[in-house]
Amino acid sequence: MWIGVTQQRTDLPSVMNTPTKPPETIEVEQTTIACDGDGGALGHPKVYLSLAEKGRVECPYCDRLFTLKEGAGGGGH
Ligand SMILES: [Zn+2]
Repeated sequence: MWIGVTQQRTDLPSVMNTPTKPPETIEVEQTTIACDGDGGALGHPKVYLSLAEKGRVECPYCDRLFTLKEGAGGGGH
């Protein structure tokens, strides 16, 4: 019996054709940051994001990734 099923998933996101520039990665020293997309043309309502859980957080509006700077937030010595 010949089984010629060639069904493929074609619903993958087109990551090769992004019209916008890739998201930035921003190092911060606080576990809580506010992001408003720089307030320019790409701005968005200010949101407060917490890095306390994972040490990093991605802004749901502008996709910028905030990471906790090494040695920050530890309370010092
Ligand atoms: Zn943002």
